[in-house]
Amino acid sequence: MNITFPDGAVRQYEQGASALSIAKKISEGLAKKILAAEVNGEIWDLSRPIEQDATVKFLTWDDENAKATFWHSSAHLMAEAVEDTFPGVKFWVGPAIERGFYYDIDLGDNVITETDLGKLEKKMAELSKQNNAFVRTEISKADAIEYFDKKGDEYKLDLLQGLQDGKITFYTQGTFTDLCRGPHIPSTGLIKGIKLTAIAGAYWKGDEKNKMLTRIYGVTFPNQKELDEYLVFLEEAKKRDHRKLGKELELFTFSEKVGAGLPLWLPKGAMLRERLQQFLQKAQVEAGYLPVITPHIGSKSLYVTSGHYEKYGKDSFQPIKTPVEGEEFFLKPMNCPHHCEIYRSSPRSYKDLPLRLAEFGTVYRYEQSGELHGLTRVRGFTQDDAHLFCMPDQVKEEFKKVIDLVLYVFKSLGFTDYTAQISLRDQEDRSNYIGSDANWELAEKSIIEAAEEKELKTTIEYGEAAFYGPKLDFMVRDAIGRKWQLGTIQVDYNLPERFDLTYIGEDNTKHRPVMIHRAPFGSMERFIAVLTEHCAGKFPMWLVPVQVKVLPISDKFLPYAENVLTELKNNDIRAEIDDRSEKIGKKIRDTELSKVPLMLIIGEKEVLENKVSLRRQGKGDEGSMELATVIGMMQAEIRNKKPTVTEIVAP
Ligand SMILES: [Zn+2]
Ligand SMILES: [Zn+2]
Repeated sequence: MNITFPDGAVRQYEQGASALSIAKKISEGLAKKILAAEVNGEIWDLSRPIEQDATVKFLTWDDENAKATFWHSSAHLMAEAVEDTFPGVKFWVGPAIERGFYYDIDLGDNVITETDLGKLEKKMAELSKQNNAFVRTEISKADAIEYFDKKGDEYKLDLLQGLQDGKITFYTQGTFTDLCRGPHIPSTGLIKGIKLTAIAGAYWKGDEKNKMLTRIYGVTFPNQKELDEYLVFLEEAKKRDHRKLGKELELFTFSEKVGAGLPLWLPKGAMLRERLQQFLQKAQVEAGYLPVITPHIGSKSLYVTSGHYEKYGKDSFQPIKTPVEGEEFFLKPMNCPHHCEIYRSSPRSYKDLPLRLAEFGTVYRYEQSGELHGLTRVRGFTQDDAHLFCMPDQVKEEFKKVIDLVLYVFKSLGFTDYTAQISLRDQEDRSNYIGSDANWELAEKSIIEAAEEKELKTTIEYGEAAFYGPKLDFMVRDAIGRKWQLGTIQVDYNLPERFDLTYIGEDNTKHRPVMIHRAPFGSMERFIAVLTEHCAGKFPMWLVPVQVKVLPISDKFLPYAENVLTELKNNDIRAEIDDRSEKIGKKIRDTELSKVPLMLIIGEKEVLENKVSLRRQGKGDEGSMELATVIGMMQAEIRNKKPTVTEIVAP
């Protein structure tokens, strides 16, 4: 049979050869590296015989599908360990997830605690050493039912009900057999770094009327080193979790009474957010943006016109009705429709374009309660929104300006590792897009050129554009290597059409403007979450809630310390004093924990010399100096928006 490889090469192999045997013929090194194969676009076991001509791609650990196969196989290995430890348990499903896997298990009368996880890990390591093959067997539905009937596993019997005879497979490794579609890695020996991470309760089929099963989470790697690195990463991610830091640094809170997913900004968080807002506002004024303000609700007809009602009406917050007339209003899910109406509020000429309307607009979107997460997934949030209305040939210039703005934001906040993704139309099928072909072509070209001229590292994705226009998204890597999408610039041919927006061109006739949506932060909530985790709560001097703390060694030096505080405040420095009757060591420790960047220690020597002793968070003593020197240094750091130095720790 003929096997075609990704580079187009075609070679002949014996019918029934497996991907693994083919790889071995190419090189032993290759065979050792691969975990699964893609056969005619489907992920296959390496050991599964290929019966006819096919295209074959080998998948190594770097491939997401290979990882999923590896982790699903690890779920089977864990199930074997659990069954071995607690005979008679029953299994529901055990999928791979984004990072690792879980298995939902009915443990019967057995109880499992966090301390048992270590024992299960050891058992898994033992079973891995046996290097048992994952063996695939095709089985008739009747035989499969008989097997699980005998075993008394009603969960697998339930799964079997939904399966078609002739398409049922079992996978066996060692003593464990599972009803499974596969695919799997060749054998258990490949699973080397093993960590079971958590136990949780999970209702069978996600229905709270059903029995609660035990869900065990785990993650595995092809070697111990990679697991160790991952554990360091996890530890670091935990330390940086914005929900934890948000509480410690008194930035925000949530209240069940107010409602899930509705953040309450505390004074320090509110001020930090306001500074971020002012920072962007200033840059936007310089870039020719005009501020607008729109209400938090809009009438139903606004969203019927925009198309949001038809698309999201049922799945969003339900309308608010006026008591007498029964008029219906929706909480604003996005600011664009309101801005379109502002555009329409007066006749526009080509001379008015580009018109750039900016608003820090708060919007509300229904998210299922299970989806809510700190500040990154909320039900009410404020977008740093703006809509640029321009002529088709202005798209490129506008993109360049927005790219500048986004890069200025990244630079000022210490995001140095980013790429841009340009999403364009499907190259084959162009029937599903709104807007003229000529405009699309021009916009796509404009975006590509703008990105090139701004020397962005870009990838181009065909078929990823929205039906209403192409876009550019920024992907940022944070200090511990996680990727976040920050900053989107989106062309829109749809809303100008729906709202019948026009301008009078140089030719004295009506034309349609192009609309561009853009938000460098995305939303204030999500951005602050990402920033907090990126800098581990050590915000840059220009942004940090408290810039300096004055620490008198004893009450005796309080009057001098208070003078220092006044002087700092007179110079617009955000300063606080620790006037508690505590030992200086404790005051320093507490200030370190609150991540205030600078401390000024005041003792006998400082008072006598009319100086202050400077300490930097995480760095220690920098000696005594004049207060004016400290102020000058701080002002320079604030002016230059010096970002906090952050270290890249893991993958
Ligand atoms: Zn399986
Ligand atoms: Zn918009």
